[in-house]
Amino acid sequence: NNNSSKKTHKANFNIDLKDAQDGKVVTRFPPEPSGYLHIGHAKAAILNKYFADMYHGKLIIRFDDTNPAKEKMEYQDSIIEDLQLLGIKGDRLTFSSDYFDEMYNLAINMIKENKAYCDDTPLETMRAERMDGIKSKRRDASVEENLDIFTNEMKNATEKGLTYCLRAKISYDIPNKALRDPVIYRCNLIPHHRTGTQWKMYPTYDFCVPVVDSIEGVTHALRTIEYRDRNPQYVWMQEALHLRPVHIWDFARVNFVRTLLSKRKLQWFVDKKYVSNWDDPRFPTVRGVRRRGMTVKGLTDFVISQGPSKNIINLDWSSIWAFNKKVIDPIAPRHTAVFKKDACLISLSDGPTEKTIEKRPKHKKNPDVGEKDVIYTSSLLIDQDDALAIATDGDKEITLMDWGNIVIVNVVKDETSEVVKEIQGKLNLQGDFRKTKKKITWLANTDDKVELDLVDFDHLITKDKLDEGDNFEDFLTPKTEFHTPAYGDVNVSQMKEGDIIQFERKGYYRLDKAATESSPAVFFTVPDGKTVSKY
Ligand code: ATP
Ligand code: MG
Ligand code: MG
Repeated sequence: NNNSSKKTHKANFNIDLKDAQDGKVVTRFPPEPSGYLHIGHAKAAILNKYFADMYHGKLIIRFDDTNPAKEKMEYQDSIIEDLQLLGIKGDRLTFSSDYFDEMYNLAINMIKENKAYCDDTPLETMRAERMDGIKSKRRDASVEENLDIFTNEMKNATEKGLTYCLRAKISYDIPNKALRDPVIYRCNLIPHHRTGTQWKMYPTYDFCVPVVDSIEGVTHALRTIEYRDRNPQYVWMQEALHLRPVHIWDFARVNFVRTLLSKRKLQWFVDKKYVSNWDDPRFPTVRGVRRRGMTVKGLTDFVISQGPSKNIINLDWSSIWAFNKKVIDPIAPRHTAVFKKDACLISLSDGPTEKTIEKRPKHKKNPDVGEKDVIYTSSLLIDQDDALAIATDGDKEITLMDWGNIVIVNVVKDETSEVVKEIQGKLNLQGDFRKTKKKITWLANTDDKVELDLVDFDHLITKDKLDEGDNFEDFLTPKTEFHTPAYGDVNVSQMKEGDIIQFERKGYYRLDKAATESSPAVFFTVPDGKTVSKY
């Protein structure tokens, strides 16, 4: 067992790395530039940084770019940006492709020591042989022949070379199938996004990672738990190549209910236009969750809270949003929105004859958040739900938030629809707000109010956890985007895209697009881990 369970003094994160020396620890985050970072990658990145910091060591960001078929500069750039967004900057930025020469030479050494062989067994047959523990017909080929095929045929991707791959000679029938002569090099004619056509064969993940980890000075390699069967293989490679050993520390992969994390599947949603792009608020990408209102601190706190767990669990999104709520609640400015549909008029017989504007705190418990304008008039708007509740309960007196009490004089309903059209009342500012049952949010019914489009989302798929053999395309949620038109208070027009606020009694929202002359301000609901969505 490579995992340390030493007792530590750290209260929040009760885990140490084995044989870690202060100032000497080197961790690495090795994304493949084959898609945008998602929340699982964020967990890996944050954990690596956490350990590097905890031991005053170093963090390497390494692009694991050994498969030219999937990799693009666009993804590489986005990953760097997203890491920056998360406040993660490595001490070094490296590329697996920086080591193609060294890996090539090491593979040659491996062949020379009779620890690797070239194999032209057809793929399907090879898979079946590995499954059944059958020895490849090429396994006993001579070192000379293997060297010739590797350095001439495979390296130049000749017609013959293209039929071969290089396999580590570990065992063909050992119970752990990951150790059954894994493929360590294969040909690929697609140009590489950094090295172009210089190489026509590439090391596999299983060869590349242990080699580069060792060469780069990594002391602790954090790997998700599903690689556990491959850990002995990682150790074998370093031993076989006489490289410095690296400690492995396993951690649990994060999965979320009704959420796909595979880059291939996410790409499908983008290609089919089910989502706008990789930063769609329904996506579990770093960009997606940020657009949905996730803060860096919320995300980091969540990851650290998950840290010690080695159980792969299917998390509910509410747990991560609950962490985020703790971050935003003390600082999110409070504002007012009223749903447009059947908004009810309040007419005050003794209200201000002209509109007046007063400053009020944006956050009652945190004066640092600043002040906002509140407009007072005799004609106000409230939500139909509130109006209906007043009518149904027959309230005599209610409280208007940020103002005071009013006495209800008359309630006017639409005769056929039962919709409350108007509530007539008069001010009772000496009244005790503690004695009323309802504290209502309201908006001055003036041209200052801002048109809003409040948007909420549902998960893209309907099933909590897809089973082996399930096709995700059979579980698409038919409707995942919900729009509610509303009015916002005058201050909304000052907000900047990305601002996270609370519309009081409605929830947290993030401004995705500011209003223009012809389009409303678009706010996305920020889940708070508690409130059940309206859909
Ligand atoms: P995909 O299979 O979607 O392409 P990947 O796992 O191959 O994703 P990489 O870019 O190779 O993506 O991953 C970079 C790092 O992120 C690896 O260390 C990997 O273990 C880690 N990682 C990927 N997905 C998760 C996850 N769901 N939870 C935790 N860590 C993850
Ligand atoms: Mg990978
Ligand atoms: Mg994967």
